[in-house]
Formats: sequence, structure tokens, C-alpha cells
Amino acid sequence: IQSLNSPYQFIEEKDIRQLLRPRPRFSNKGTFGHALIIAGQPETMGAALLSASGCAHAGAGLTTACIPQSGLVALNTSQPEVMAIMRDGKKTPEMAWDKFSAIGIGPGLGKDKQALQLLGNTLKNYQKPMVIDADALNLLSANPKLWKKIPAGSILTPHMKEFDRLFGGHISWWSRIQTAIVRAAEYNINILLKNNYTIIATPGGRVYFNPTGNPAMATGGMGDVLTGILASLLAQQHPPEQACIIGAYIHGKAGDELALPSRMTVVMPGKLAQQLPVTIARLT
Ligand code: AMP
Ligand code: MG
Repeated sequence: IQSLNSPYQFIEEKDIRQLLRPRPRFSNKGTFGHALIIAGQPETMGAALLSASGCAHAGAGLTTACIPQSGLVALNTSQPEVMAIMRDGKKTPEMAWDKFSAIGIGPGLGKDKQALQLLGNTLKNYQKPMVIDADALNLLSANPKLWKKIPAGSILTPHMKEFDRLFGGHISWWSRIQTAIVRAAEYNINILLKNNYTIIATPGGRVYFNPTGNPAMATGGMGDVLTGILASLLAQQHPPEQACIIGAYIHGKAGDELALPSRMTVVMPGKLAQQLPVTIARLT
């Protein structure tokens, strides 16, 4: 990663090899943290399922999904490994926030009053770095007073449109990068700006360029898997900046491993999640 005095860093495979460590023999699920994914509406449960799948496959010791009641059967059927906290759509469920070592919030969450209340309560009750994506970002754009409640070191993962909603319109990719640098420092957060070449702006002013990924990944649900991966890496005690670097790289790498050998036109996000243990093993 280190290049001479430049704030711009290109992520290379050798960097990831240094950051990923084999699981110790003396370990159990408690060693790898407990991640909470807050996501989904009845109509967008798929986003929650994909996020939870990304999280579990990236190695979190335990994954719990906070989902609408109507999604419970889908979760239990498709992912028996993932536990559930159910929302009735009215008020934020009671939970022991402290037991979670990381939170990912936003995929398919919706933007109604309940979703806003849920985001507000999450920011009020949880002080560790969290991953904020999708509708949680859109809620943030519409309610700027929430900004100051974001825990230091949190990871925001906007795609271009979400980024412009948060920070105003931009005319070029380059100007977006400049804004990301300024805002990451201002709010003490990591901004992972998603595109065909994802960039990561850190609170300390570094900018990483991720080289992995391919156009077969341009399909709905792909970002939701990334949110789960990042929450999983935070739960496993990777510092947020490291989580961003590893997360963006292995997400794209898994997509490359699936698509490139057979020149596949599209990779299903659910399949990408299932590829993660293989990708991670190759890089560890
Ligand atoms: P989202 O728009 O939230 O679903 O996120 C899409 C995800 O897929 C991001 O992580 C992008 O970096 C990735 N992605 C989409 N299209 C490409 C592409 N052409 N090349 C590499 N990665 C891509
Ligand atoms: Mg998305």
C-alpha cells in the first residue's frame, strides 16, 4: 500500500495477504465477533438476506439480522445460520446493543418514519464504528442533524448517486474524490465510494483505489453483500480503515474469480457471498 509520500494508495494483493491472518486454532465463534445487520422491508427482504449472507460468509462468529416480521420465514429458510430480531414496523425493538461487535445498517431499509426512527435509535444506542449504506444514507441526506451522531470511524458506502445526495451534485469523478477526502476528515469517518473502481477516503486523509471487480458485478444486490462483508470484518476486530481495504478488495476479487475464467456476463450477489470463504482462503 505504501507509496512515496502520496496520499493516494493503490491496493495490491500483497497488502491483503498481510492483513488477513489464519484463524487461530484456539478460537471459537466468540473470537470472531457478533454482527448485527439492520435491513429489509417486506418488499426488499432480499437486500437484508444478501447482506446477512455476505456477513456470515466473510467470517463473523455470529450474525443476527434485524428484519421485518414478515421476512422471518425467508431468513430461516434461506439462511439457518443467521439469527433474527424482528421488527413490527412500528417501534424500534428492544435489544442489548452492547453485545454486538459491529452493526451494518441500511440495505432495503426504506425511508419512512419507522426507518428514520430505527436509524436514529441505532445512532443513539451504539457508539462503535458501524457500516452505513443505502437507505440509511438516503435518510442521512434528508436529515442532516443525524450527522453529528455517527460514531467516529464509521464506514459510509455510497454509490455515486447516494454520494451526490449526501454531498451535492458533482460534475466529475475527480471532484467526488476531493469531496470524499474533505468530508471523511470533517466527520471522522471512512467514505467508501463505490463504482467500477471503488475509492476509500479515510479520516486521516489517505485515499485507496481498489483494483478488483468487473462489470458482471453491476447488478442489484451487489452493494448489499459488501455492507455485510464490512460489518463482518469490523466484528472480527479489523480497524475500520483495514476493514474497508480488505472488504472492497475481497468483494471484487470474489466477483473476478466467479466471472473472469468463463467470461460470465453477470454474477449473482448471493453466489458472490458463497464464494467469499474460497477467496479469503486464497488470500490468507
Ligand atoms: P450497489 O450499487 O450499492 O449495489 O453497489 C454495487 C457494487 O458492485 C459496488 O461494490 C461496486 O463497486 C460493484 N460494481 C458494480 N459495477 C462494477 C464494475 N463494473 N466493476 C467493478 N465493480 C462493480
Ligand atoms: Mg446499494
